[in-house]
Amino acid sequence: MIPDDYFRYVLPHKPANNGDVVYFPYWRFKGMLFFCGPHKVDERYVDISQQAIRNHNFPFSVGIRSQAMKIQFVTPDSVGRFLKPVIEHQQIFGDFEKRFGRNIARPILHQAHIGETLSLIYAPFFIRDKLYDAVLDKPVSEMSIENLDLADYTETDPRGHIRFVSTLCPHCGWDLDGERDALVLRCKNCQSTWYPVGRKLKQLKFARMAHGDADAVYLPFWRIRADISGIELKSYADLIKVANLPKAVQEDWHRTAFRFWVPAFKVRPRIFLRLAGQVTVVQPRDELVSRIPDSRIHPSNLPVAEAIESLKLILAGLIKPRKTLADKLAAINVDAKSVALIYFPFKEAHVEYIQPDYQIALNKNVLSLSRNL
Ligand SMILES: [Zn+2]
Repeated sequence: MIPDDYFRYVLPHKPANNGDVVYFPYWRFKGMLFFCGPHKVDERYVDISQQAIRNHNFPFSVGIRSQAMKIQFVTPDSVGRFLKPVIEHQQIFGDFEKRFGRNIARPILHQAHIGETLSLIYAPFFIRDKLYDAVLDKPVSEMSIENLDLADYTETDPRGHIRFVSTLCPHCGWDLDGERDALVLRCKNCQSTWYPVGRKLKQLKFARMAHGDADAVYLPFWRIRADISGIELKSYADLIKVANLPKAVQEDWHRTAFRFWVPAFKVRPRIFLRLAGQVTVVQPRDELVSRIPDSRIHPSNLPVAEAIESLKLILAGLIKPRKTLADKLAAINVDAKSVALIYFPFKEAHVEYIQPDYQIALNKNVLSLSRNL
C-alpha cells in the first residue's frame, strides 16, 4: 500500500459506538533529528501528535496511544464522520530547531531530519451530555462542552488516498517477497529487487556479500556514490586523509571510489549514525554477487531518500581532526548519484548480531524494537 501523500489512520473503538462517532484529526510526526555541532552530534527521536483543528474540548494530542494501540489504516470500508484538518502540518512541525533544539549546544553546524513520516490520525469521539472518548468509552473531562457545535466543522472523506501496488514481479510475474513494513520487494525467481517509485515498482540494483555463512542474518545497507564538493573525497585514499586514519595508502586506493554506506533499516538515531560511520569508514570491498540471500533478511524499511538526507551528517562524523569541522562543513555539498542495496551478512550471537569481518555489533533487542520507529 502506498499513500498519495501520507497515511491516514483511525484509532479503533468498540463497535457499540459506531452510530454517531465523529473522527477528530491529529497530525503525527515521527523521525530522527540530528544536530551537528563542532564537537559532537546530538540526536532526538521524535514521535509527536497535535490537533489538526484547534479546539479545547478535544485532547491536545493523541498521547501515547499512537504507540500503545494498534492503529488501523483508513480504508474504503471505514465509516463515520471525519472532520477536515484546518491547521497545516507545516504550522505545527515547521521549526524543529526551535521546538527540540532548545537544549542543544550552539553553534549548530548542520541539521538533518531522517526517516521522517507524517501521518494523520483520526481519533473517535461521540457527544452525549459531555464529549466522550470512544476508545475509552469515557468522558474526555467532567466539564460540559463549551461552544462545540460539530456542524461548524467541515467534513472530509479520507478514504481513497491509498494505492495498492501489485506484488507480482514486473519481470517474470512471480510473487515478490517482502515483509509488511518493507520498501524493497524481492523476486527469488528472476533474482531481482524492486522499489516503489510513484505508482510503479522500479528495478533496484542490489547485491550481497559473496562469503556469508548459510545461517547468516542479512542486514541491508544503501551504498551510495555521491559527488562531493568543498572537500577532496573521491577515493578511498582521500578518505584516509579526511578521516586521518592510521593507514599507509596503497596505490590502488586512489582508484577505489569512495562510497557512503547507510543502514537501509530503521534503528534508533544514535545507532543509525554509528553503523553508517562504522561501515563507511571501512569502505567494504568484498566480493559481491547479485543473488538474494537464502537465509534471513532484515526488511529494508528506511527510504533511500532518507538515507541520502544523512550523507552530509555521516561525512561530518568522518572529518578529523574534529576542530577543523566548523571551518569545513559549511562549504561541503553532497549530491547523491547512484544507489545500490547491499545485503551484509551478520552472525547471530546471544544478544547481538555481529559482522565478523569488520567487528560491527548490533544489539538484537534494539533492532527488533526498531521495527516500530
Ligand atoms: Zn521475477
